[in-house]
Amino acid sequence: MTSKRYVMKFGGSCVKDGLTIRRSAEIVEEYIKAGNQVIIVVSAISGITDGIIEALEKAEKGDKEAIERFIEELRNRHLEACRQAIKNQKLRSEITEMVNNEVDELKRLLSVLAYLREVTPRVRDYALSFGERLSTRIFWGALTDQKLKAEYLRGWEAGIFTNDNFGDARPLTTLTYQEVKKRLIPLLEKGVIPVITGFIAATPDGIITTLGRGGSDFTATIIGAALKVDEIILWKDVDGVMTADPKLVPEARPLARMSYDEVMELAYFGAKVIHPLALEAAAREGIPIRVKNFYDPSASGTLITRQAEKDTVKALTMIRDTAIILASGTGIAETPTINIKLLDLLSRLGVQVIMLSQASSQANISIAIPRRDLEKTLKAIRREFLADEVKIDYEEGICVIAVIGSGMRGRPGVAARIFNAVAQEGINIRMIAQGSSELNISFAVREEDGVKALRAIHKAFNLNT
Ligand code: ADP
Ligand code: ASP
Ligand code: MG
Repeated sequence: MTSKRYVMKFGGSCVKDGLTIRRSAEIVEEYIKAGNQVIIVVSAISGITDGIIEALEKAEKGDKEAIERFIEELRNRHLEACRQAIKNQKLRSEITEMVNNEVDELKRLLSVLAYLREVTPRVRDYALSFGERLSTRIFWGALTDQKLKAEYLRGWEAGIFTNDNFGDARPLTTLTYQEVKKRLIPLLEKGVIPVITGFIAATPDGIITTLGRGGSDFTATIIGAALKVDEIILWKDVDGVMTADPKLVPEARPLARMSYDEVMELAYFGAKVIHPLALEAAAREGIPIRVKNFYDPSASGTLITRQAEKDTVKALTMIRDTAIILASGTGIAETPTINIKLLDLLSRLGVQVIMLSQASSQANISIAIPRRDLEKTLKAIRREFLADEVKIDYEEGICVIAVIGSGMRGRPGVAARIFNAVAQEGINIRMIAQGSSELNISFAVREEDGVKALRAIHKAFNLNT
């Protein structure tokens, strides 16, 4: 028997209720029976993180009734999951009690917040931690119910430590790698399955942090990299990384192989499929990531490694809710450093530049940014630049489409094919840019044309077949 060491993450798109948790535990059992070692990372049950975020908003408004309602729904959903996932009565009542204790703790916290009407980033992370604490407890119960030896660990108990950038904390890599090894290897050697909460971690002095939305992927790859496992498996509700989001392009199909860089570009341009930093952590140590469909476990899914197959265009993605800022005027044409000042301003404001393009005449520059940052950006530009030096226009209701594939490098004609396909649909392109990596070509269209443009390119490059 060839035994391998795996990290497996079960995302919110798999753990929807007790039945799917049970099904996940059965998948784990198969890998264990085949003689492998498995470390498990679990996300909150689908929709729960969003629910807690909403409850925090209600707390800020002092809406105590809404919080009561939320807590009861949360309790019912998790108690129902316990009933479905755990058959053994004694074990079930033990876990029910643990779940009730966690829900009570969150209830106390939200009541205090509703009284204070203030939610700081630090308290927010503490509240968000309950989603993964609850789901992972029940997952642990389902494994134990199946007579598997498992141990429940919260992120920090598994050794994941971060800085205190609440809401988007970064792991302290050296400390984390050392602690993850120290805490998990002895468990694996004893034949115990570590079952770890995704998404949540702590600072070295014990304050709870979160790794950003979708952060369970990141938890999995941090652990995978620290332990240099054979493979990290991300179980999702899709057949793998696909040529496009199947929710937008129904003809999308799974890709057998991708490189870390290609998936990073996809993630950067909004494809929710994997947390972008998760790829970085795995890429650094060269640990293969496999994205597999929870509903079809025998299918091979997508294997992500350093190598890429040299297809010209592999996948498409789209970022909605963006805006374009167009800066022109004598200042831009005559003083090239104004561009640098403009970008420096955006970086100081913490605004992500999704796309940037400049005409070769240098008389104007277009920048695509998230729509939510438009007002503060315009205000800051007006404050810091003279009106006759830089003239500012803007356009809202924009989406950015990115076309990704490592084989595009140095292949002429790819851009022409893309823009032809879009033009044939009668869609007007507002802005174009090519990433310096030459792994992508991105362009902006009106929001209402986005899906149509995606489907047209998908077809033009025969991605459906
Ligand atoms: P999980 O909760 O398991 O982490 P997510 O919901 O975060 O899963 O990610 C999976 C979702 O990503 C899919 O349901 C799909 O709608 C979306 N997605 C977007 N782009 C892609 C793509 N190119 N390939 C696969 N899935 C994609
Ligand atoms: N539960 C967290 C979220 O919804 C983390 C994750 O699902 O990966 O963002
Ligand atoms: Mg996710």
